[in-house]
Amino acid sequence: MTTQLTNVQVRDIEALVHPYTPLHRVREIGPLVLDRGKGVYVYDTQGKEYIEGMSGLWCAGLGFSDEEMVEAGTEQLKRLPYYHLFGAKGYEVAIELAEKLKEIAPVPISKVLYSSSGSEANDTQIKLAWYYNNALGRPDKKKIISRVKGYHGVTVMSASLTGLPNNHIDFDLPVPRVLHADCPHHYRFGLEGETEEAFVARLAANLRALIEKEGPETIAAFIAEPIMGAGGVIVPPEGYFAAIQPIFEEHDILMIGDEVITGFGRTGEWFGSTAVGYKPHTISVAKQLTASYAPLSAVMLPQFMVDALESESAKIGVFGHGYTYGGHPLGCALGVKAIEIYQKRDILGRVRGLAPLFAARIAKLAEHPLIGDVRVKGLVGGVELVADKKTKRPFDPKQGVGAKIVGFLQARGAILRAIGDTIALCPPMVISEAELNELFDRLEKALDDGE
Ligand code: PLP
Repeated sequence: MTTQLTNVQVRDIEALVHPYTPLHRVREIGPLVLDRGKGVYVYDTQGKEYIEGMSGLWCAGLGFSDEEMVEAGTEQLKRLPYYHLFGAKGYEVAIELAEKLKEIAPVPISKVLYSSSGSEANDTQIKLAWYYNNALGRPDKKKIISRVKGYHGVTVMSASLTGLPNNHIDFDLPVPRVLHADCPHHYRFGLEGETEEAFVARLAANLRALIEKEGPETIAAFIAEPIMGAGGVIVPPEGYFAAIQPIFEEHDILMIGDEVITGFGRTGEWFGSTAVGYKPHTISVAKQLTASYAPLSAVMLPQFMVDALESESAKIGVFGHGYTYGGHPLGCALGVKAIEIYQKRDILGRVRGLAPLFAARIAKLAEHPLIGDVRVKGLVGGVELVADKKTKRPFDPKQGVGAKIVGFLQARGAILRAIGDTIALCPPMVISEAELNELFDRLEKALDDGE
């Protein structure tokens, strides 16, 4: 864009390193500097309004500046702005949130261990899987299986679990002991003429072969998002989790559910695992846990893991893990309030109510000449742009077609996210039908701009 940069944009360029941004092109892109938000809208420093169709980073599910949330946060800051949970200290709001999480969990959960971000929660999961296997006297059972295109964060371990090249190249990742299994993306990885059923059977057979080749006695855990988000909104084919789950059970491999995006109503269920028939042993949550009004994440643990951690700690002494801000009181208060709001405003019901309209508008996009595949579950979706609809030929990544379309959309007053050439949609769960229609109308126009 060649428009004149504002003063605040120049200050942005001179002061910030922007994550997940082509750093050499920030000036050319022109940073979007936001000033405030209300409901599903955010406003830039010039006062221009945008529909935030991504809930920020799949996280602000209650939209922006919800008054009840602001009040809950303010009250907690006045009461106890900081404390920690180290050395058996604590505060009631951390207990209350853990109790709520146990209540709504999709699988039996005994205790909750807090952290601050999704990456930290997944990092913690891997450390716990190792600690757990040491407790059980299985020092060799340490490898972790994640999947190509899975996204689990950016710390050294969670970026290693992530199955996307940009998170590895020149960061010297992945670290050893991480194995990447197939991605359940039928449109891209299904063979010519292969049915979804046959595709699922092939992926399950490949997984079994991988485990047998590595030795099941060397594999500690499998981690999966119920629906892949940052890998391109990949909804697994029917029967995928049902086909792979028994393989892990057979080989005593822990199953970790990464519910960082799919937790708290996004799919119309409390947890995405329920929506796709996945039954993980342990779950990572973040993002919508607090509707993202403050950073907070958590690992939700079953009794058998807690037992093992406690027995190992009894041998060693201190359980040597924990973050200064893990379970921050502000995050816990906002987590309690967010869950209360999800319940009393029937946010799951809202998502289920909006889902048919959302799915219909996404299905309509499939008719557009630029779109090869569309994927949707609840209130999260993705549309994949292709150079040739018939052959599924992708655009040359250097063309940056996805980024161009979301640029046109931004000019039209709406924000979505391009993941390569998939445009992701993840609107606040409080969006109205009219706002949702407006978002799609603007996206259709932006796609036409790109033709
Ligand atoms: N796991 C999933 C499924 C995510 O989508 C993300 C972030 O988008 C993460 C983990 C990492 O979370 P964070 O960015 O809070 O570290």
